[in-house]
Amino acid sequence: MSEQLHKLRTLSRSCFDISLPSGDSRSGMVKGRYLKCLLDGGCSFDCAYCPVCRNESPAAFSPDELASLVLTLWREQMIDGLFLSTGIPRETDESMEKLLRTGELLRQGGFTGYLHLKIVPGAVRSDITEAARIADRISINLEATGSGRLSEIASVKTYESDLLRRHAWIADEAPGRHTTQIVVGAAGEGDDEILSFMTSEYRKYQPARIYYSGFTPLDNTPLQRGEGADPARVKGLYAIDALVRSYGYSEEEIIPALGEDGMLLPGDPKINCSGKRRIDPSSATWEELIRIPGIGPKAADRVISLRSSGRVATEQMLREAGVVMKRAGAYLVVGGRVQGQLG
Ligand code: SF4
Repeated sequence: MSEQLHKLRTLSRSCFDISLPSGDSRSGMVKGRYLKCLLDGGCSFDCAYCPVCRNESPAAFSPDELASLVLTLWREQMIDGLFLSTGIPRETDESMEKLLRTGELLRQGGFTGYLHLKIVPGAVRSDITEAARIADRISINLEATGSGRLSEIASVKTYESDLLRRHAWIADEAPGRHTTQIVVGAAGEGDDEILSFMTSEYRKYQPARIYYSGFTPLDNTPLQRGEGADPARVKGLYAIDALVRSYGYSEEEIIPALGEDGMLLPGDPKINCSGKRRIDPSSATWEELIRIPGIGPKAADRVISLRSSGRVATEQMLREAGVVMKRAGAYLVVGGRVQGQLG
């Protein structure tokens, strides 16, 4: 057991994926303690940002070993779920078979916890169908905004065939239960490319989430001397992502958040996207309300329900509805009066 726990520590450390579950697990569980782990800690691919690509003494679990360990931890209530990924030391099909076998053994053992299976590049469709049947969530990492960018950081896997085609299959097999991830800052892409990627992803494939993994130069990887991504950049991308994913902003609406250099402007992206238009909360649509800084979906709901008892005519009414007037005031005309100066 202690040897297996040692292996588990090694393979958990090597799992650098940042995808985290939220929302729609089969069990309904959205928060909890998730074990992230690799089945195989070695890989024949050459992704320059990945610690696994040059691992000279990789550890590995067999499906039986890992399933039995996870079942023990889960029964002891030490974990609530498993995020399972793998390196690909030999053939893609062999790695997928091991991944699926582990998931199958877990379910056969009565595991009802959250299970996320990371599909490997080039996986066959029938294995993706099977993964969607076993797991709460499945995903493939697209890693970059397009084939040109991917070729800067990985030469074995192909964007269109190994990743995007599989991503489309995953979207078909697990609608609303799939995610993807890109590495930010490793391939020299601008935020404009990422925003265009983001809007097209949500429109075409409707992933539950896109994760933005800020590039970190890791020792013993080809990019170990590269420059890491600024955490503020990643934070800004998540803020824009929330506008697109939760509020339905179009690509056109988020373009004002970009500077001339193609990077996000400093400051709050919602303010940067707001423009100079003012609205009257007594007549604005829900979509117009949530586009105002200081008004979130819940406050927009309350403002709309306030209208059933008459006009929204005072600042106080808006405050009570949860509107942050300090941020929202300048964009509102309340009771015929403009509330503040637009910047
Ligand atoms: S295919 Fe995955 S595990 Fe293998 S080197 Fe690339 S990112 Fe790492």
